[in-house]
Amino acid sequence: MGKWFNPGGGDAIPPIWNASTSPTADLRKEFDDLVLGRGSYPGIGVFMLLRMMDRSGKRCLCWNETRGSSTNCSYCKGESFQWTEEWVRGWFTQTFGRSLTGATQMETLLPPGIFDHDKAIMYLPATANPATGDAMFRIRLNAEGKPYYPIERIEKWRCVNVEDRRQESGELAFWLVLCERVEF
Ligand SMILES: [Zn+2]
Repeated sequence: MGKWFNPGGGDAIPPIWNASTSPTADLRKEFDDLVLGRGSYPGIGVFMLLRMMDRSGKRCLCWNETRGSSTNCSYCKGESFQWTEEWVRGWFTQTFGRSLTGATQMETLLPPGIFDHDKAIMYLPATANPATGDAMFRIRLNAEGKPYYPIERIEKWRCVNVEDRRQESGELAFWLVLCERVEF
């Protein structure tokens, strides 16, 4: 190898990775700071309700093997599984066309027809516990981003694919959840 690689600095090829670029980047902390906030910075995360289906697969009493579940069930609200809900704060984006991959997320909202109204990608903190089949509700929020009470659900999304994103140590950094809009 000649000096062509580094005309100003002798034979050495400049390092790509060094102390100032890695390897100590803490992606989980960066994510939490950005989405959940830190100090006086409130974070970009929006409050949503995550409806988690029973992880052992416990069905609601309304469920029947042949006729399924009653959509009028006042207990499970037609989910057919027992579930619990918890508040999560996450970042919400929409996607181009019919695509449902992280590579096509958009940074800005575009008119209907350009983006797909019925697909979304949600980024959730590592402390959340999403799973495929769960539901996510967007909630009516006030100007400060806090939920109105009583809670008003304005959109329902089904988690169709849940992926973990990890940092170098293998520690969970955040969740990437691909969602489809559902009627409710
Ligand atoms: Zn039920």
